[in-house]
Amino acid sequence: GCGLELFSSSTKFDSGTGWPSFWAPLHNAVAEDRDTTLGMLRVEAHCRRCGGHLGHVFDDGPRPTGLRYCMNGVAMNFVAAEEETRVRIPNRT
Ligand SMILES: [Zn+2]
Repeated sequence: GCGLELFSSSTKFDSGTGWPSFWAPLHNAVAEDRDTTLGMLRVEAHCRRCGGHLGHVFDDGPRPTGLRYCMNGVAMNFVAAEEETRVRIPNRT
């Protein structure tokens, strides 16, 4: 929604679900909430800044966190690492 950086590709893994999956978000990027729709208790993940829905968090992910951030690829823009670094550290010389 607002373009906030949410995840680094260094925490991306192949979950086999077809969804972009990560085992950890960037610091202070993602907020979580309980979601009881569909009769299930899930953890809903959204952008900490604009509240845009991103996906859900499950506890069957890989090490080291054991978490699986199952994200909606349509909700995200994917930026090449070089550009990502430039955006994150604008004053780097
Ligand atoms: Zn946002």
